[in-house]
Amino acid sequence: MRTPLIAGNWKMNGSHALVDEFGRAFADAALPDSLDVVVLPPFPYLDAARRALADVPVQLGAQTLNPSHAGARTGEVSGRMLKEFDVDYVLVGHSERRALYRETDDDVYDRLLAALNADIQPILCVGETLEERDAGHTFDVVLRQVGHALAPLEPEQRARVTIAYEPVWAIGTGRTATSEQAQDVMAAIREYQAGFDPDLAQAMRLLYGGSMSAANAAELLAQPDIDGGLVGGASLKVDDFLAICHSAR
Ligand code: PGA
Repeated sequence: MRTPLIAGNWKMNGSHALVDEFGRAFADAALPDSLDVVVLPPFPYLDAARRALADVPVQLGAQTLNPSHAGARTGEVSGRMLKEFDVDYVLVGHSERRALYRETDDDVYDRLLAALNADIQPILCVGETLEERDAGHTFDVVLRQVGHALAPLEPEQRARVTIAYEPVWAIGTGRTATSEQAQDVMAAIREYQAGFDPDLAQAMRLLYGGSMSAANAAELLAQPDIDGGLVGGASLKVDDFLAICHSAR
């Protein structure tokens, strides 16, 4: 059985006060035993979050990394640096990075590899835009993004990747994919993986992202191929985020 994973992507939001609030709330929360929870604050809060969450079963994630180890890359952060802050997970290929910072499939692959080389588990984000869905290209787009990132990897590396399916039209819009739409695409991702290795495909965790909330999480998470959530907006409200965590079992 796959252990569910709920990841909170704060994006460029949060504060020291929010980190402290999370620390206090999770210290009191009785989370389900078989659940992984990850909080992904912006870089400046990683160290505070690491300390605030040190005694609770919550892991730390970052939202991006530079593919290089070190050097003249003003403003960038490497996997090696993230590892020094006990970062366990890092997002790669988030649609905001692809759209706003023009990260291509090649850039996403480079970051994925850098995460694996730094011994950080990448969460590879994939998803179609509304135009692509309306044109009937959802499966082509998503499987192209997955394939570009995973095909060159060794089996041992592929086993360390989590995939988040996030339809771009559902991110931050309040418009969630129906559980059926999400399930269909995520089943196709697992089937694609099974072409490499059926056992790995069964073990691989797939997250849904895009306006997941306390109200819709249980139905989404009940789908056979949805093993967790990548939560944006609702991850900034600790009660909502905890409610989503409790929906995952
Ligand atoms: P959202 O963001 O939950 O606010 O839609 C999800 C994400 O971008 O990861």
